[in-house]
Amino acid sequence: MDFLHSGLADVQRHLAFVSVDPINWKFYVQVFSWSVTIFESYLLLRQYPLYSKTSPPEALAPHISKEDFAKSQIYGKDKAQFALFSKLFSQCVDSAMLQYGFYAWCWGAAGTILGKLGYGTDYEILQSIIFSFTMYLLSSLPTLPLSVYSTFVLEEKHGFNKTTPALFVGDLVKSWLIAFALGAPFLAAFLYIFQWAGDRFVPWLMGFMISFQLLMVILYPTVIQPLFNKLTPLSDGELRSRVESLAGKLHFPLKHLYEIDGSKRSSHSNAYFFGLPWSKHIVIFDTLMQQSKPEEVEAVLAHELGHWYYLHPTKMMAISQFHIFTILALFPAFLHAPPLLRSFDFPKHVAAKPPTIVAFLLFQMILTPLEAFISIGMNAVSRHFEWEADRFACELQDQLKEESMKDMGDRLGRALITLHVKNLSTVWVDWLYSAYHHSHPTLTERLKGLESFQAKRAKKE
Ligand SMILES: [Zn+2]
Repeated sequence: MDFLHSGLADVQRHLAFVSVDPINWKFYVQVFSWSVTIFESYLLLRQYPLYSKTSPPEALAPHISKEDFAKSQIYGKDKAQFALFSKLFSQCVDSAMLQYGFYAWCWGAAGTILGKLGYGTDYEILQSIIFSFTMYLLSSLPTLPLSVYSTFVLEEKHGFNKTTPALFVGDLVKSWLIAFALGAPFLAAFLYIFQWAGDRFVPWLMGFMISFQLLMVILYPTVIQPLFNKLTPLSDGELRSRVESLAGKLHFPLKHLYEIDGSKRSSHSNAYFFGLPWSKHIVIFDTLMQQSKPEEVEAVLAHELGHWYYLHPTKMMAISQFHIFTILALFPAFLHAPPLLRSFDFPKHVAAKPPTIVAFLLFQMILTPLEAFISIGMNAVSRHFEWEADRFACELQDQLKEESMKDMGDRLGRALITLHVKNLSTVWVDWLYSAYHHSHPTLTERLKGLESFQAKRAKKE
């Protein structure tokens, strides 16, 4: 542990200037965040003309009808226009909040509310919780109309929306309540660790974050998801026996197999698994089962089980721990930095002894450009995992010595095409736009990949 702390202390020495130099952090954050927004808008403008193409790529032409292609182009165009508008709108709102001292105002308002409740401002953790929720509620209001428009106008127009206004409001209230019920204790514990461990908080906080993530793995499917969707055990039949037999052959610890009423809100479709290493649950969207044949859904699950076989979720979690560690290792330099708070309009008496939550929030804003690069890296890793999972499905016949699985690649290809066509997903994709935004390879790339995996296999025989 001492080795860790001396390493961390070294980092702090290099960043010592943060706590004394009057740097104009606000200006930097404005420049950073506008740069990211302008870059993302540029990507949208690169992608936009592709929605005017009148025919699909050659590899897809046999699989997608003229009408479906035309529909997906119009849907893509509408979504791109909306994305550009909402991106610029949100950036203007965020930028104005930053410029006019919104965060400092929220901290003061939280202090006032605390006073009305009869507590002094030395209750930092309580004030931090009030601060976070005031900020969360107020800053989500300006973008609320955007989400109403997206659900009830855009998705509605293209036939995807199944959400009613009552369901929409119910979801919103529920998600606010959950954010409070989970967020308040989380935040209290998070801040308490800082108070208790002082500047040696890094290993303790890491331990706490990992435990919280594991707790969420248990709570999300059992407590949170059922508040929004209904999970019912998948009924007996061809699909159930196919999935159970596949899971059995791979020694996948399948505990429950569910069908989820994804169609309650939208007709977009999917399948996924979750759970602890010794007890897993598979969830299949009702929409996926309506759109594809059982043997195709089985191929989708073969791909999902490839993610499990290669430990992709565990690897992703390890990467995210490393990410959290880097952030925490850099943070102490920003924790006791009055000039940082002063540059974001916090009054002198607050800046003199910076509240941890405020320092952490401002620190995260400063990290915006770094986070953009990290998300590009994460997407690249995720796309690599998708390849591996597709290859896994294609090679199952060899692994399980199962003649009946020899067309798994074709079945997966057909399922992907159906998913893509029914979801009206974008067909033509700009490479830079895709590298930045996509966690999955494009459909054309995946179909080509499936073909080459199968050709390679055939050669080996
Ligand atoms: Zn996948």
